[in-house]
Amino acid sequence: MTERIQEFLRNRRSEGLDTEPCLVVDLEVVRDNYQTFSKALPDSRVFYAVKANPAPEVLSLLASMGSCFDTATVAEIEMALAAGATPDRISYGNTIKKERDIARAFALGIRLFSVDCAAEVEKIARAAPGAKVFCRILYDCAGAEWPLSRKFGCDPEMAVDVLDLAKRLGLEPYGISFHVGSQQRKVKAWDRALAMASTVFRDCAERGINLSMVNMGGGFPTKYLRDVPPVVQYGRSIFRALRKHFGNQIPETIIEPGRGMVGNAGIIETEVVLISKKSDEDEVRWVYLDIGKFGGLAETMDESIRYAIRTPHDGAEMTPCVLAGPTCDSADVLYEKMPYPLPVTLEIGDKLLIEGTGAYTSTYSSVAFNGIPPLRTYHI
Ligand code: PLP
Repeated sequence: MTERIQEFLRNRRSEGLDTEPCLVVDLEVVRDNYQTFSKALPDSRVFYAVKANPAPEVLSLLASMGSCFDTATVAEIEMALAAGATPDRISYGNTIKKERDIARAFALGIRLFSVDCAAEVEKIARAAPGAKVFCRILYDCAGAEWPLSRKFGCDPEMAVDVLDLAKRLGLEPYGISFHVGSQQRKVKAWDRALAMASTVFRDCAERGINLSMVNMGGGFPTKYLRDVPPVVQYGRSIFRALRKHFGNQIPETIIEPGRGMVGNAGIIETEVVLISKKSDEDEVRWVYLDIGKFGGLAETMDESIRYAIRTPHDGAEMTPCVLAGPTCDSADVLYEKMPYPLPVTLEIGDKLLIEGTGAYTSTYSSVAFNGIPPLRTYHI
């Protein structure tokens, strides 16, 4: 946790404003992260994945530093434009779009769209004539703690047909994209995906389609409980893979970091509401916080994302606890299959700090389930 966040939380407490949980994001950390990505992958353009944290302060900072933006909806496009990005620095990277949203994006000046099937290409040809498209290919995401499953992308062989159709319908077949899975701990995960992308490049070239760009997605991890390799190691490994699969004809490349850009910039402060046991013999305590799955911690869904939690009693003896949120939904439990060790001296009213919560938290916070207001956020 940075000094700036510590001081902010101290002041908030001293003014008696700490009655609800909050997320505090240190923009200096976001600034450092952007510079780290730019240095580690100097030949790739950064398209920040807006979904990770679309706060105007984050978007304006990144826009001022020269970042481009990967967006998933018209609303995100409008946020990126409002933050100062020009349309040529914005991609509409969701493979699932309504035709009227494509038309709206096109009217806003967006010319770069993702696709993964013929039907989506047809929509774009009608609603965004002449636009550039890149086709997302499927990837199995092994090694990722938050895999993105088979929901997005198509087989590489099909990608060639999809891009061929794009050309025939007057679009510009621009490139290939993939995502190696979020919180990807393996620095080598991009190697096989780039091998697949290079095959599509060659197969397209045989049909007279010359692709220009590989979008290497997000996946760069942030530190939760376990350490993760530094971005520079990902950069080196990706560069080696590009040389291996594209030789000296490396195409234009894009990266779309979300979690890796903002995750470690944020801390959530939460309060212990209740500590109890389910029977006198139980060893495991239930610790209920004033934030849970519906307050922003949705990524604990299958317990794969394990946040680091600091308490005022760090250093004391620890025992396993089930950690749960405050709402009346019994699904609002954060860690139960793998109970979370917390100090035996933990007390009701203690403030806990949940680290690495700058990404995929504030946007998952629901509007007033059980009358609990959405997560209060501060960007400092
Ligand atoms: N790009 C696309 C198309 C995505 O869907 C996502 C996440 O869902 C990202 C980038 C960001 O991924 P990450 O947060 O793992 O960097």
